[in-house]
Amino acid sequence: MSRLPHLTTRLQGFGTTIFAEMTALANEHNAVNLGQGFPDFEGPAEIKDAAIAAMNAGHNQYCPGAGIPSLRQAIAEHQKRFYDLDYDPAGEVTVFTGATEAIASSLLALCEAGDEVVLFEPFYDSYRAAVAMAGASPRVIPLRDPDFRYDPELLELSIGPKTRVLVLNSPHNPTGKVFSRAELEHIAALCIKHDVLVLSDEVYEHLTFGVEHVPIATLPGMRDRTITISSAGKTFSLTGWKIGWACAGKDVTAAIRTSHQFVTFCNGTPFQHGIAHALRMGDHFFDGFRSEYQVRRDKLCAGLRDVGFTVLDPAGTYFACVDIRAMGFDDDQTLCRLLPEKVGVAAIPNSAFYLDPRRGKHLVRFAFCKTDAVLDEGIARLRKNIGNLKAAT
Ligand code: PMP
Ligand code: GLN
Repeated sequence: MSRLPHLTTRLQGFGTTIFAEMTALANEHNAVNLGQGFPDFEGPAEIKDAAIAAMNAGHNQYCPGAGIPSLRQAIAEHQKRFYDLDYDPAGEVTVFTGATEAIASSLLALCEAGDEVVLFEPFYDSYRAAVAMAGASPRVIPLRDPDFRYDPELLELSIGPKTRVLVLNSPHNPTGKVFSRAELEHIAALCIKHDVLVLSDEVYEHLTFGVEHVPIATLPGMRDRTITISSAGKTFSLTGWKIGWACAGKDVTAAIRTSHQFVTFCNGTPFQHGIAHALRMGDHFFDGFRSEYQVRRDKLCAGLRDVGFTVLDPAGTYFACVDIRAMGFDDDQTLCRLLPEKVGVAAIPNSAFYLDPRRGKHLVRFAFCKTDAVLDEGIARLRKNIGNLKAAT
């Protein structure tokens, strides 16, 4: 791999994110973008109205670094309402510039150079970069398709005196796996035994289909060793607002606020007012959100199956992965680089989510956070044009 000048050794090889790359290709070829995970529809008007009202009321300057008090209160109420978890908004809830900054600032605050961070592989791409920026090393535990279970013994062997943090992501991007209560109990027991902190990325907490989302912080002994991270981007279809948050015990919160104040300090004051309103919306919103996505998931999965892919049905998130081997392909990067031009659809090659890309090269991720018409068009193009791609590879 070529070395970029100026870039620190820690970040060599990270290049451009796969999401930016595939969206650029989609735009270039006017393709239906089922790659990058952003909704192509608007978030609720009442949330936007609350942010506009805040702007017009003059809430346009820096806010407290930990976030505006009403949003921290709303986040604490949300954790109580959905999970019966109690957090003190003053000292245990922090607002960040999206989940991405919450993850990076947490790892920067918690890891010493040389510490190990356990990641389940495949992993959301920013984890590995944040681990690298913190000077720590990743230790990966494979989630093996088709059911994406991990090997309990391997996890037991991989956690030891050097492990500082275990990163959990449930519901899981890109696989759509929702960790079971039994799996979470196993992970929790190991983290307690080895005094490891858990960074739990729950940005898809409201997107589970027929299975329960169990925040690991609800398990006995876990509240004070867990940093629970979420974001308004997914739940309220407002990915561009970049309002995320973390709930953690008092001491961990004090640590992660220390790095946060020097990474971004604060973000999006009027948007924070909007999200304070959003988190207090009634059950009809959260129930409707889930059921609308269930319909989208079923539509995309049925369409991909009809095209001939082996679909690994997701239990959560707004992504569906397919095994491309049944269609006669064996390299996800080649397929995804040709897909926009030859088929008119963009998707994400899963190998971008693996330490060793060879382990994920038979998988491709499609996003279903799209309107019906766009999903229908994407499926129709795949059905009609996938033959062109077979000829091109
Ligand atoms: N974690 C996961 C698992 C994600 O899929 C994403 C992408 N939305 C993020 C974190 C980043 O969230 P945000 O846009 O709030 O930074
Ligand atoms: N989370 C989004 C995804 O997985 C991408 C966010 C980004 O582009 N950084 O597709």
